[in-house]
Amino acid sequence: MIKLYNSVTHTVDPFTTHEPGKVKMYTCGPTVYHFAHIGNLRSYIMEDVLEKFLRWSGYDVLRVMNITDVGHLASDADTGEDKMLKGARREHKTVMEIARFYTDAFFEDCKKLNIRKPDVVEPATGCIPEFIEMVEKLLADGYAYLAGGNVYFDTSKCEEYYVFNRHNEEDLEVGVRDGVEADGNKKNKGDFVLWFTKSKFDDQELKWDSPWGIGYPGWHIECSAISIKHCGEYLDLHCGGIDNQFPHHTNEIAQSEAYLGHAWCPQWFHVHHLNTTGGKMSKSKGEFLTVSLLEQKGYDPLVYRFFCLQSHYRKSLVFSFENLDNANTAYQKLIEKIAALLPEKNGEVDAEVFAAYKEKFAAAMGEDLNTSMAVTAVYDVLKAKTNPATKLALLADYDEVLSLGMIAAAEKLASAAPAESDEDEAYITEMIAKRAAAKKAKNFAEADAIRDELKAKGILLVDSSQGTTWKRA
Ligand code: AMP
Ligand code: ZN
Repeated sequence: MIKLYNSVTHTVDPFTTHEPGKVKMYTCGPTVYHFAHIGNLRSYIMEDVLEKFLRWSGYDVLRVMNITDVGHLASDADTGEDKMLKGARREHKTVMEIARFYTDAFFEDCKKLNIRKPDVVEPATGCIPEFIEMVEKLLADGYAYLAGGNVYFDTSKCEEYYVFNRHNEEDLEVGVRDGVEADGNKKNKGDFVLWFTKSKFDDQELKWDSPWGIGYPGWHIECSAISIKHCGEYLDLHCGGIDNQFPHHTNEIAQSEAYLGHAWCPQWFHVHHLNTTGGKMSKSKGEFLTVSLLEQKGYDPLVYRFFCLQSHYRKSLVFSFENLDNANTAYQKLIEKIAALLPEKNGEVDAEVFAAYKEKFAAAMGEDLNTSMAVTAVYDVLKAKTNPATKLALLADYDEVLSLGMIAAAEKLASAAPAESDEDEAYITEMIAKRAAAKKAKNFAEADAIRDELKAKGILLVDSSQGTTWKRA
């Protein structure tokens, strides 16, 4: 049995599906106005593990993800500039140009992290007729109203609006919270915009005709409409980062259930944040870490995935290079141990041992996706009293879920050229010392040139709080 924490019930519940054996799973996709940071990617890594674990357990999974390329405003509460427009201005490009660029960049990052592309990926700008149809029905059924040119969802019509946590209505007043003028059109503080028209935000680059005038959709409507379009009236599982709980997911539930006339999604999976020592990592703060940056510093992106899997998704995780270095050391040692098994990979797999250890992994993962226990299960396999072929078969099986590229990395290591001569090592050590001196003298151009020179020779430098080490590419 698989058990998962459900943000609606606040308990770890048995996982259920509307149709036996089938999972319809929706994931809030990225807002493509900038590169995804490694915090965003923590959420996508954990959701990927969840999806793969469900598949591994025998479910037929349909996973749908949107791409937010319109409607996500600087404040989640319907105020401020559209994030896409802000990104386009920053780069002197059109909104569609940056949407295309950052969507591609997002999936490149996902590939490097072994995150599977969802079965359906749908940009919001491709579903405008669906949004309009949904808003029309909400208006016709009395769940929405027109004010000041915009269409608002009327939260007072919901039996229970704050489904995840109680919120104090007073705290929700946007003007008070963000120092932005409050939206006087709203009848209730929780109300949110379904459709904006030109009467309010004239500078929007992408606009569409609608029964309420030329305008653009609100952020929340896109996820409801895209989910219903592809997953139908009953969704089994909805995922996102914890910050999406309110207002985004709360609003999705309100409008989806109002539109459908029945309960929509019973299970909600939220990944807690990746923080730096300075607080939450966020795109809008401007400074953030990306996968490319980790690569530039010499880290294999899968080391970051390993780092994420070592912690539970319901705990916030603090990122530091020191922590990543520890994960790197552990990952490299793990790969070395696996590489040592390879010469005997063609032995006979012990079916009994295989089944027992498979069960152990299933139990760890089935207990609210306990990935750190699953990583421990990997080490248990290495210590098990069985032959290398059985161990390798188990690791390959676990890796269908963990996607740490364990066997491939071990094979690469095993086939790598034998260590070069000591002379080479002396040269590398000398270059590292030269680079440290250049950095100390703030001669970053020279420091970078040394790094590049070594890189061209297949030597990657890894900086950490303890100094610089190197490895062969
Ligand atoms: P965005 O691109 O801002 O729409 O966010 C994409 C996903 O990343 C959403 O599911 C967010 O909830 C999630 N997210 C944002 N910041 C973080 C963070 N620091 N740690 C983990 N997930 C995050
Ligand atoms: Zn969403």
